[in-house]
Amino acid sequence: MKLVYSDQYDLNLGDHVFPSIKYRLVKEQLLRDRLAQPGDFVEPAAASDDDVALVHHGEYIRKLQTGNLSYLEILRLEIPYSPELVSAVWLCAGGSILAGRLALEDSAAVNVGGGFHHAYPDHGEGFCVLHDVAIAIRRLQKDKVIEHAMTVDCDVHQGNGTAAIFRGDHSVFTFSIHQENIYPYPKPPSTLDVNLRDGVGDDEYLQELERGLSKSLKEFSPEILFYVAGADPYRDDQLGGLRLTLEGLEKRDRLVFEKAQAKKIPVVVTLAGGYARCVEDTIQIHTNTIRVAKEYAK
Ligand SMILES: [Zn+2]
Repeated sequence: MKLVYSDQYDLNLGDHVFPSIKYRLVKEQLLRDRLAQPGDFVEPAAASDDDVALVHHGEYIRKLQTGNLSYLEILRLEIPYSPELVSAVWLCAGGSILAGRLALEDSAAVNVGGGFHHAYPDHGEGFCVLHDVAIAIRRLQKDKVIEHAMTVDCDVHQGNGTAAIFRGDHSVFTFSIHQENIYPYPKPPSTLDVNLRDGVGDDEYLQELERGLSKSLKEFSPEILFYVAGADPYRDDQLGGLRLTLEGLEKRDRLVFEKAQAKKIPVVVTLAGGYARCVEDTIQIHTNTIRVAKEYAK
């Protein structure tokens, strides 16, 4: 299984609650645990502006590229603006496109980054500048290698950008399972939302996920599934209020892959959020997801 990764994914945020150094740390742990060889990593090319424009408005793209976001727009991003940030998110969108193509060949692929599900066509928010997953889906549709896609969003925060981008589009089914009483507000409706109350743990989460996935895959037959595998439903997360254990999160991953594999649907993993008090836990959760993905790849 291929792992799409670049050292340039690091958004260089320094001492920020979003540990963007995690991408490099995940790569290092995968090598250390012998879950990957150096040759398994493939370097993406940046998405083209045409690719980005399949999802985002021209004016927003120009503002990003020329450094002309307003103070309020930067505030809403909740991460500092820099030209390096712009390069990183264009590269990461290219990474999700590449991971999508690789998953269609190998039945599973991972972008060791991405999952920026809070980005909207005309603005970014919640650490998300460009919606890499939506860009990848639109590009694969444009290339006519897929018609129908599903997003399965297990980040603790609802996939508001995803829901808004694909609202009313019957070619993309958006499923999100998340904590209800937490950012984002409002939550535009996904095709299927599972709103969890505060403090939900492994058993209830896995039951709800199983039910939601079964319903989604009964109603809709995608040719590709993008799994937004946020590490933040973890019980020791600083931003989330669910109580999943490391084992519960791994069962979550396994459930997503089992359901997809039963219908022979290729899966693309993106990492999304993760704000555990110990960054090592976030790295472990992402590494576990990739280990599970590898078991299901051809
Ligand atoms: Zn999140």
